[in-house]
Amino acid sequence: MSILEGLTRFGMAADRQSLMEPQTNLVINTDFGKPVLYLEEVSVSFDGFKALNNLTLYIDEGELRCIIGPNGAGKTTMMDVITGKTRPDSGRVFFGQTIDLLKLNEHEIAQGGIGRKFQKPTVFELLSVFENLELAMASSKNVWASLFYKLGAEQKTRIEEVLGLIGLESQYKRPAGLLSHGQKQWLEIGMLLMQNPRVLLVDEPVAGMTGEETERTAELLTSLAGKHSVIVVEHDMAFVRSIAKKVTVLHQGSVLAEGSMDQIQNNPDVVEVYLGE
Ligand code: ADP
Ligand code: MG
Repeated sequence: MSILEGLTRFGMAADRQSLMEPQTNLVINTDFGKPVLYLEEVSVSFDGFKALNNLTLYIDEGELRCIIGPNGAGKTTMMDVITGKTRPDSGRVFFGQTIDLLKLNEHEIAQGGIGRKFQKPTVFELLSVFENLELAMASSKNVWASLFYKLGAEQKTRIEEVLGLIGLESQYKRPAGLLSHGQKQWLEIGMLLMQNPRVLLVDEPVAGMTGEETERTAELLTSLAGKHSVIVVEHDMAFVRSIAKKVTVLHQGSVLAEGSMDQIQNNPDVVEVYLGE
């Protein structure tokens, strides 16, 4: 059943017109609260292979969503579509009620408030933790201009706030290259936070972390929810269980199941996909 058919079936077709921006063809069902991100019937093919197949997914403002699924399910492709790295063949991708992400490039999407953390940390190793955060805040200027740019009290307070969030207050003078793998990952999350993103996409944040680092990452991501919408793709099921509110299972480019961790783990389709791997 398509979204449109669904809305019609629930007698909402008459309201649909008034909810639409004139320049868009977005179908918004406001009954479910106000999502910050809408993916509707999104398909992406690579040489005829459908990496995403009619994927429909809504992320709410301030929620922490975990996305799981076997290798090749389309998780990274989904993030590539949201961030403008890959253009879908069909479908709609909206940020908030009115911003059509398919009309923006990667840079505009990042500037517009969707931050992405890749698996490998990409911090400036020779600069201190503090300087890395400083640079990230000023990243709309060029790197050299921002190195010589004087910090105001407000910016300093924000850096200190983020240092606290990522648990690196005592490390602020250290060159980032000397941090542990986990600390570098937190610093990179901190750098994204300097831009105050509305949505934060995080791909496999705990890969290669120690048990203790994994626990602290769980606390960090949990503490960000509410202020930011956080989408976490992760394989480590114990980790997912420790942070999960709502979990989406992707399989062959579509949503196989969605719900609480308990609902997901007891879903026969999910069990079959994971056992069949
Ligand atoms: P996941 O992140 O869930 O493991 P991906 O989104 O990386 O899955 O990949 C989904 C499918 O699309 C895989 O079968 C992968 O081989 C294929 N794929 C992804 N990117 C490309 C590409 N640039 N060219 C061709 N095939 C791709
Ligand atoms: Mg992937």
